[in-house]
Amino acid sequence: MNSNLWKKSVDFHGHECPGLAIGFRACEAVKEKLGLQFSTDEEVVCVTENDACGVDAVQVITGCTFGKGNLIYRGTGKMAFSFFNRKTGESLRLIAKPSKQDMDRQQRQDYILSAPIEEVFSFGEPSFQLPEQARLFTTIVCESCGEGAPEHKIRLQDDKKVCIDCFKAYDRGWK
Ligand SMILES: [Zn+2]
Ligand SMILES: [Zn+2]
Repeated sequence: MNSNLWKKSVDFHGHECPGLAIGFRACEAVKEKLGLQFSTDEEVVCVTENDACGVDAVQVITGCTFGKGNLIYRGTGKMAFSFFNRKTGESLRLIAKPSKQDMDRQQRQDYILSAPIEEVFSFGEPSFQLPEQARLFTTIVCESCGEGAPEHKIRLQDDKKVCIDCFKAYDRGWK
């Protein structure tokens, strides 16, 4: 285990926990199996299926971040991460195996950090496609509040271009 990277992850996340350990091991596994290094641009994309502690390790170690657009949230709530390499077309999905019951928090964290990788995760292919690369959009100024928003977030209302905040949703659905 690379204790430098673990320390970096803990510093970024704010504490040690089993969830962070899952993200950390996921990164180690993907580096080994896909040969991925830190992503300075968008060549590596991570799709995370949860918004829990482990995602912080993914951001620090792989360089897949929300801000760069190469970290994408797909909210199934599962402890699963998929990695796509745009250059080679390779992809890999990992999902944490169900945990053994008789472990406390510290034992579980130590187990995740030290167990053979095949005991921690199941490996497979993602069942979904690689998302398109982050696009740049023209900014439109909302004619109601005056704030700018990208054009794909603009709606038409009474012949005016308005932002999501100012748009009154037409919703007659069953509640
Ligand atoms: Zn945590
Ligand atoms: Zn507005």
